[in-house]
Amino acid sequence: MMTDLLKLTRDNYFSLEAQRQYMSVSQFKGFLPSYGGCEAQSMAKLAGEWEDSQKTAFDEGHFLHAWNEGTLPDFKANNPSIYSSQGPTKGQLKANFKHLTKLIEVLENDPKVMNALAGEKEVIMTASFHGIKWKIMIDSYNPEKATFSDLKGLQSIDKTFWNKESRAPESFIQHYGYDIQMAVYAEIERRATNNKEWLLPHLVVVTKETVPDHDIAFLSHENIPRALNIVANNIERVKAVKSGLVQPVRCEKCDYCKLDKKVMRIKEFSEFELY
Ligand SMILES: [Zn+2]
Repeated sequence: MMTDLLKLTRDNYFSLEAQRQYMSVSQFKGFLPSYGGCEAQSMAKLAGEWEDSQKTAFDEGHFLHAWNEGTLPDFKANNPSIYSSQGPTKGQLKANFKHLTKLIEVLENDPKVMNALAGEKEVIMTASFHGIKWKIMIDSYNPEKATFSDLKGLQSIDKTFWNKESRAPESFIQHYGYDIQMAVYAEIERRATNNKEWLLPHLVVVTKETVPDHDIAFLSHENIPRALNIVANNIERVKAVKSGLVQPVRCEKCDYCKLDKKVMRIKEFSEFELY
């Protein structure tokens, strides 16, 4: 029996109930080991038995997004934990959040960035895709210009990541699956609005380096299908696990698995070779 789907708002978008009823890009990646995901951990999260320990990164992301949305004063007022509570810096923003104000300054001083981030902010959309309901939240939605943008704060633009599965180096875009995120956003927006064409997805990135770097990138329409293929190739497995039809596999690498990991098989040295 189908229960009524939760009507998504900014207040319940990240709630457990919303995660249970809808697929999101981060939830999807959370099931895939190639994106640092783990089926067992994902299922424990959906059951309310496990929470991400990356609260600081989560709060930092929200700080940047609150700025983009124009609600930074509210965010600061509602999140006292971002302020230092003791010592000589008591009452000031904690160092990492103070540094974020520098990132924001960098963004505000670049007209191309402000142009890319113009539009309706934090727009929630849902649509069916691969037989399930997806939810997306677009940072800056600009259908008049046929674009939308997502804002990311990261450590570095130039850092090279090692992909253990493909045994090849990759950029932050592949490493964090931003290509998948942007492609799915384009597809869900297209379905939700009954448009024939995708909007052009843009990524505005700013780094947390001492002197912040920043850049803007777009995902061309010709590369969207390739990213959507990653979803097509993995979604049936994710659906089967999420619905309880198939037992989740433990990755034995994430914090959730490591807590009660037992060695199942003794490995040969060569199994630790990187390539
Ligand atoms: Zn795991």
